[in-house]
Amino acid sequence: MLRDTLGASSGACDFVAPDAPLGALLPDPGLARLRALGATIRLRSTVRELRPSSSGWRVDADESPFAALLLALPPWSAAAPLGRLGLDLAALQAFVPEPIATAWALWPSGEAPPLARWLMLDEDPARGRYGQWVFDRGDIGAARVAGVVVSAASRIEDVSAQALAEGVAAQLRDAFGGPAPSAIRVVTERRATFRCTPGLPRPACDHYAREAPGLWLAGDWTWPDYPATIEAAVRSGRQAAAGIIASLGMAPQPGAVRTTNERA
Ligand SMILES: Cc1cc2nc3c(=O)[nH]c(=O)nc-3n(C[C@H](O)[C@H](O)[C@H](O)COP(=O)(O)OP(=O)(O)OC[C@H]3O[C@@H](n4cnc5c(N)ncnc54)[C@H](O)[C@@H]3O)c2cc1C
Repeated sequence: MLRDTLGASSGACDFVAPDAPLGALLPDPGLARLRALGATIRLRSTVRELRPSSSGWRVDADESPFAALLLALPPWSAAAPLGRLGLDLAALQAFVPEPIATAWALWPSGEAPPLARWLMLDEDPARGRYGQWVFDRGDIGAARVAGVVVSAASRIEDVSAQALAEGVAAQLRDAFGGPAPSAIRVVTERRATFRCTPGLPRPACDHYAREAPGLWLAGDWTWPDYPATIEAAVRSGRQAAAGIIASLGMAPQPGAVRTTNERA
């Protein structure tokens, strides 16, 4: 990441914050593009079974086979259907989930201190202050809401929600002054990302090409240069799509994917 940001042109280091919710920014245009290309989209459908055959891959109860299958799930989710195929899961099982905690601070509307839209906080674990970034979410209903994020939250597994909230309140007071939030609620996403440790094997998108031809992988965990980021997920998806197109001998749709290997 340092190579691609500090080591690249000045534009690569811009701090970019979306004005739109993430749904409007990424998935919605993605779905619109897929629909325009004629894709059938089934949301909220858990994939349980993948069935290979000489004519291609079937998913759950699907009757018509697919020429290629791109599984873009987190490693711990992908392990279930891949395990049922009898595939070696060692590369997936090396990934250890890492939580992210968000402390949601609430004030009655009109009673919050002047908040910055976002701010990096002074993290000081020795003083029980674990918050790293604060994002002002504005008024939601009758409350003013700010989210204080604690990444790599396995470090604070033994810290009680009460102690975490007290530390966050102190950080908010130091950053913006009073009044204190009327409530702080901590939400911890246990499988938010994977633990980025040195030497972690990162399987390629065609990891199972030999044992399961036509089955491809994508997801942030399959892009070896980056930690768990949206950028890694996008790059891995593009690479896998380019690989599938090449393997099927298809011409890429203009603008659908980049066919160059961006890692090269
Ligand atoms: C709280 C939090 C904050 C983050 N902050 C940032 C940030 O600031 N910047 C950044 O770059 N990244 C951030 N990330 C990480 C970023 O969200 C991930 O790196 C990115 O979403 C990974 O994309 P993906 O497509 O690989 O996987 P995911 O986004 O995890 O998508 C996988 C999808 O597969 C679905 N799924 C799982 N099992 C099945 C199944 N059996 N059948 C069908 N579907 C299934 C899941 O529901 C999910 O929708 C954050 C993550 C969290 C949780």
